[in-house]
Amino acid sequence: MLTMMFDGSMNTEEWGGGTKSIAGVDDILKKATEFVPLTRDEGLRLMKIPLHSLDCYRMMAAANRMSREQFCSKGENHLHIGLNVEPCPLDCLFCSLTHKAGIFTEKVDYSEEQILSWARYAEKLGCDGINLMTTGTYPFLRLLEIGKLLSQEVSVPLIANTRDINHAEGEALLAAGFVGAYHAVRLGEGRDTPLDRNKRIKTIQVLRDVGLKWMNCVEPVGPEHSAEELIDLMFLARDYGATYSGVMRRINFPGSPMTKFGMITELEMARLVAISRLIMGDVPKAHCTHEPHSASLLAGANLFFPEVGSNPRDGQEDTSTGRGNSVEACQKIHREMNLDPSLPSNCYQ
Ligand code: SF4
Repeated sequence: MLTMMFDGSMNTEEWGGGTKSIAGVDDILKKATEFVPLTRDEGLRLMKIPLHSLDCYRMMAAANRMSREQFCSKGENHLHIGLNVEPCPLDCLFCSLTHKAGIFTEKVDYSEEQILSWARYAEKLGCDGINLMTTGTYPFLRLLEIGKLLSQEVSVPLIANTRDINHAEGEALLAAGFVGAYHAVRLGEGRDTPLDRNKRIKTIQVLRDVGLKWMNCVEPVGPEHSAEELIDLMFLARDYGATYSGVMRRINFPGSPMTKFGMITELEMARLVAISRLIMGDVPKAHCTHEPHSASLLAGANLFFPEVGSNPRDGQEDTSTGRGNSVEACQKIHREMNLDPSLPSNCYQ
């Protein structure tokens, strides 16, 4: 039971949060809300703030205020279109599209008509970006063709989400009509994936060099990830100037080898969304969370990814019939939380 105190606050000790402040939290929150860059040590101190504590809600409130001020209460929606389904030979442990997971045994390349129809749906509903995702071995030239096609047919900015690239490939993405690329150094990169962390970072540098916007998320977060691992990726995002970089949790698909670790809750994700928001300072143009939910919109997030096509968290071939949220559903959550999806995007300024 919660006890309401005379001053209107709640006795959070009764539900495990505690009322004692972590040393220096007031100064860190003040610094962050004045958009002064935090240090790594300050970030690590924020990671010690327990869920449900008063400091946790103060931190979420500070992050919320920063985003609503900086992003002018804009609710962003970037439609994820998974272009293909394939038993991916790269076998990242958290992904449902892997060969090892055995969920998908056939290759599916969505037709141009289908992809165009999804892109037109995004345009019609006023999406702020279209994020074209491929599996790890999808032909790069095919991605360029799809980019060229969509950039002629729809006005929504295109973002690529594909393998590591070099400078020439970065230039080719630009020429095909892409304005940016989503490219995350994943948690456990090189351990839970066969990919090289340094090569991933090199690609981020390529994006910056050629003038593609770099979109990022700290992902896929599970309960086993240490404060240091999470903070490292939050600071990488700030230091390389991510257009956005919030937090996405790992979804354990049925049979996932990560099931033994469990999953974090949406509320735990909101706490991390707040910490990453404080760390990002005045760098980002938006702050993402995935999958779409309300709690993180009170903790500094304003960007959702509705999803169609393939999805590395789903067992359904087309996620619009599975875990994927529609654009309408995402916009509804935004509106319920007093964010306005109809305002212009801040991401491309
Ligand atoms: S995350 Fe990407 S590269 Fe890794 S297995 Fe899944 S589709 Fe392949």
